[in-house]
Amino acid sequence: MHHDQPPIKDLRTRLDQLKAAHLYRRRRVQDAPQQPRAIVDGRPLLSFCSNDYLGLANHPEVIAALQRGAERWGVGSGAAHLVNGHSAAHHALEEALAEFTGYPRALLFSTGYMANLGVIAALAGRGDTVFEDRLNHASLLDGAQLSRATLRRYPHADSAGLDRLLKGGQTRMIATDGVFSMDGDLAPLPALARLAHQAGAWLLVDDAHGLGVLGHGGRGSLDHFGLNPDETTILMGTLGKSFGTFGAFVAGSEDLIETLIQRARSYIYTTATPPALAEATRASLRLAEREDWRRERLQMLIARFRQGADQFGLQLTDSLTPIQPLLAGSAERAIGWSQALEAAGILVGAIRPPTVSEGAARLRITFSAAHAEADVDRLLDALAELPTDH
Ligand code: PMP
Repeated sequence: MHHDQPPIKDLRTRLDQLKAAHLYRRRRVQDAPQQPRAIVDGRPLLSFCSNDYLGLANHPEVIAALQRGAERWGVGSGAAHLVNGHSAAHHALEEALAEFTGYPRALLFSTGYMANLGVIAALAGRGDTVFEDRLNHASLLDGAQLSRATLRRYPHADSAGLDRLLKGGQTRMIATDGVFSMDGDLAPLPALARLAHQAGAWLLVDDAHGLGVLGHGGRGSLDHFGLNPDETTILMGTLGKSFGTFGAFVAGSEDLIETLIQRARSYIYTTATPPALAEATRASLRLAEREDWRRERLQMLIARFRQGADQFGLQLTDSLTPIQPLLAGSAERAIGWSQALEAAGILVGAIRPPTVSEGAARLRITFSAAHAEADVDRLLDALAELPTDH
């Protein structure tokens, strides 16, 4: 492509265009733990935008495990897992995650983004086709691009539409979010699992937002649908959301995990996360699994919100998860709403293209077991006051 201005001017022009279209993103400086009582740019706000669904990110036992871990292991892991960075702390967490998910093995990745890149590129390649839901997380889409397989996107949560696309093609993998990160709805996992079996393909389920929240003991969306671990289904889970820490894992069969160790480049060529973090996650996993009251409380808060929102005539999606988006349409309107809420002391992020499609900008409201009922009521009162003319 020919550029008719110097490169730095080119950048400035593009940044100005983003600003004019209300698509410019700004980071805010947080000065307190994330949720529910945040301090942003020096100002206290009631926050509804963290993924700490179970309220474990600041739990004293998790903090203590991190501190003890640092005393035992120091901070840095020093190397990649395959070099010298795989500690007994990482190993114990992998075993705990395998037991929690019911799969034979689990493998830690540094982030969910890297796990998705690593798994897809390790299992699919040139000549294969990977099918993905249109609303999948960016990392699943990027993983397919990186793999050099043909990427085909099917209409959101539409297993019949996928079935039509599958006819006649060579299918290597179907990949989907379990709970969609910007909509909060669930993938039709039983139908997708059936299609994957019929096609002799992998089903990769990214359950970043389902684990900890749905299913028995928080086992996630597959368990929610009564789907048991099998050799076709690969579960990717993140640790920075319900489990309140950081990192990710992939659970699957023995041969799958060994293959990822040999072939997943985002596993092989990166430094292992700090061992102390693995100790903290083991503590939070125990709490997440045992303390059903956190999931019950979350469902109670969600129901309270939906009931109240319904009374105010707010347009809700059919999400029954802690992700409760409020559709605004234009980016300008979403920003206007977010600013009006902030003026009322409430922090809710506006989600705009390209994270969501054009015309589908929204407020992404998320709930946590750490919220009080009075917090939900405060949010509802502020939402009722939103300008409708934006
Ligand atoms: N998948 C989904 C569905 C997500 O929402 C996220 C986090 N935004 C990720 C993957 C990436 O996980 P991580 O933040 O650990 O990179």
